[in-house]
Amino acid sequence: MQVPLLDLKAQFQTLREAILPEVERLIESQQFILGPRVESFEEAVCRYTGAPHAVGVSSGTDALLMALMALEIGPGDAVLTTPFSFFATAGSIARLGATPAFVDIDPLTFNLSVEHLRRTLADALRDTDGHPLARDGKRIRAIMPVHLYGLCAEMDAIGDLAQEYGLPIIEDAAQALGSTYPSRHGPRQAGAIGDFGCYSFFPSKNLGAFGDGGMVVCRDAAAAQKLRALRNHGGERRYYHPIIGGNFRLDALQATVLEIKLPHLDAWSAARRRNTALYREAFENAGLFPAITFPAEPYRGSGHANHHIFNQFVLRVPERDALCAALESAGIGHAIYYPLPLHLQECFNGLGHREGDFPEAERAARETIALPVYPELAPEQIARVVETLARFYARR
Ligand SMILES: *Cc1c(COP(=O)(O)O)cnc(C)c1O
Repeated sequence: MQVPLLDLKAQFQTLREAILPEVERLIESQQFILGPRVESFEEAVCRYTGAPHAVGVSSGTDALLMALMALEIGPGDAVLTTPFSFFATAGSIARLGATPAFVDIDPLTFNLSVEHLRRTLADALRDTDGHPLARDGKRIRAIMPVHLYGLCAEMDAIGDLAQEYGLPIIEDAAQALGSTYPSRHGPRQAGAIGDFGCYSFFPSKNLGAFGDGGMVVCRDAAAAQKLRALRNHGGERRYYHPIIGGNFRLDALQATVLEIKLPHLDAWSAARRRNTALYREAFENAGLFPAITFPAEPYRGSGHANHHIFNQFVLRVPERDALCAALESAGIGHAIYYPLPLHLQECFNGLGHREGDFPEAERAARETIALPVYPELAPEQIARVVETLARFYARR
């Protein structure tokens, strides 16, 4: 029995009757760029997340880039973020000439460590205005937490620090649309907590398009207006450009598909959670604890269903690389998210980081593995994965 890491065809089969006629209608209309389909999906995302404004954009990466552009972050600036994420998190900061100023992760959740964030800000040198500076002397202008694998970072504590230091928060919620954070003010949707929230509709995300797509949500009406201009070359009136933007538009075709899919998102996330519950039980029965570490679910007691939406199901395991080889030969999908932390990426050599700078990110890169968790995964497939793990560790 083959067990793929992800099976997008299974989901499409359940929706083809709903999607294909709408896609055909859009093609008949030949209205491909922005327009009512994009607007209607933006409104749906506002209703779903509770964010006041939503701007459909070309990808999750461009969503991050545009939020930074809306804040006019560039050379001379730094943004505090995690070294353990997909490349786009730090890449978007660096592309604008700013410095990704890394802060190590919490080893239990793999998210930005509040402890380290607090210390980084408290120990930072200040400029003459009292503004905190990064190691390289750049002005710290924002905090970019990532809700890794679909689990929200500790936004209450991050929000307190942001307020204390006057820093806006850009949430990288690319893996977390639909994840509920139990804030002290009540439940909040990932992405709709900070000043800006960035989503990705890359096909492997919980809400996936038929290609690339993304969304920026924000609280402030003026920021939303700026984002709308930025995605269209910095102008609202055609051929007049008060600011420099780019072509960062969401396709109407993608918006059409996504709006049809959005009402199913919570059920898909529930199915992912159900799969992890099956894994937990099977791991227990197979005696795999405590050798392997299950994903932390710190908000489990919050009473909110979507406290974790498991975009990825990531375990900490002994002998990770040998396990990968065993899974490979058993035909079981798996992946490493992510094998090399961002501070050690070749393109960031100029930042002068060394191995040992962010030990928890480095350890996570060595010890974690993602296993199949997609909604359509069958219980027999989960049993097969666990059986393979049990056999691997029994031999050791
Ligand atoms: C997927 C992802 C992105 C980028 O999204 P794209 O739509 O692929 O550009 C950014 N950050 C994180 C954490 C992601 O997982």
